[in-house]
Amino acid sequence: MLCDLCGKKTATLVDRTVVNNGIAEYRFCEDCYKAIMKSGRTAFDVMQEVLARKGKECPVCGTTAEDFRSSFMFGCPECYRNMRDIAVAAAEATQNASVHIGKRRKGGRDGQ
Ligand SMILES: [Zn+2]
Ligand SMILES: [Zn+2]
Repeated sequence: MLCDLCGKKTATLVDRTVVNNGIAEYRFCEDCYKAIMKSGRTAFDVMQEVLARKGKECPVCGTTAEDFRSSFMFGCPECYRNMRDIAVAAAEATQNASVHIGKRRKGGRDGQ
């Protein structure tokens, strides 16, 4: 498992943050974790920023606005909180579109 922050080194530390409806879990190498500690911010804050930069709107499951627009599926309840504006805009843009909140289908074709 590689570090979620640098993506280069092996992650040896796990940081879990309880958010509204789930647990955001990130893995870090020792260097990145130390850097986060030094910055005085929480791992969750740092990762939210990193993920937002990558276009991953939901910090819990990593669903992106793009994922949502193509499938109208949220990966987890936290998605709704993070992408409410996007969801509303997308629903308005697509008439009669229904918004499902549930398990994301992406990559879930195992066993078929
Ligand atoms: Zn790292
Ligand atoms: Zn989510």
